[in-house]
Amino acid sequence: MPIENTEQNLKNILQTIGEYEQKYQRAKDSVLLMAVSKKKPVAAIQEAYKAGQRIFGESYVQESIAKQQQLTDLKDLEWHFIGPIQSNKTKDIANHFNWVHSLDRLKIINRISKQRSSSLPAMNVLLQVNLDAEETKSGFISNELVGAANLISSLPNLVLRGIMAIPKAENDFNHQRIAFKRIHQLYLELQKQHESIDTLSIGMSNDMQAAIAEGSTMVRIGTAIFGSRS
Ligand SMILES: *Cc1c(COP(=O)(O)O)cnc(C)c1O
Repeated sequence: MPIENTEQNLKNILQTIGEYEQKYQRAKDSVLLMAVSKKKPVAAIQEAYKAGQRIFGESYVQESIAKQQQLTDLKDLEWHFIGPIQSNKTKDIANHFNWVHSLDRLKIINRISKQRSSSLPAMNVLLQVNLDAEETKSGFISNELVGAANLISSLPNLVLRGIMAIPKAENDFNHQRIAFKRIHQLYLELQKQHESIDTLSIGMSNDMQAAIAEGSTMVRIGTAIFGSRS
């Protein structure tokens, strides 16, 4: 692969998102772009920032905090944690990110609420959904969502913004859409009960189109912006 042109890749993705918004009758600018910078150096984040990108997603706590500490001059970066959460990392997650997309256990929800400094704004949180109850995937299964959402609403320092999902890898566009449609349905049901919900985090480099067709409000794109990860 040639040297990545992050700026051009970002432009292309934003244009494509705009085209899909039109194609699938989504409101203009209703789909936000998260740049997934895990395993990518600070220089890649700086380049994306220069091109106007502000929302960054990271999956590894220590790696991300080290990069954040080198980027403190960029005041308006928004850090989203999207990786698996170990109990012994919740305190770092609670105090170094603006959003968490990967809440997958009640215990983790309780810990992040307790450990988030009350001098910070409330943490924006999403429940991760394990759509097909896959053994190897984290996330709440669909009938656990209501209870988890109610717990978040009852706790300090958290604001429930919606759900995140990573459906089974699937290359066929129509199959991708079927899974995303089911996730969107769960999202709409939860939204009826919690008016703070406004974020459906679905869609990656390989299934962004299907996700936007089925209601995504935030796509999480790594490879298509920064190139493949080693
Ligand atoms: C790595 C990752 C992404 C980005 O995936 P790409 O295929 O590189 O776009 C999105 N979401 C999560 C949860 C990830 O871990």
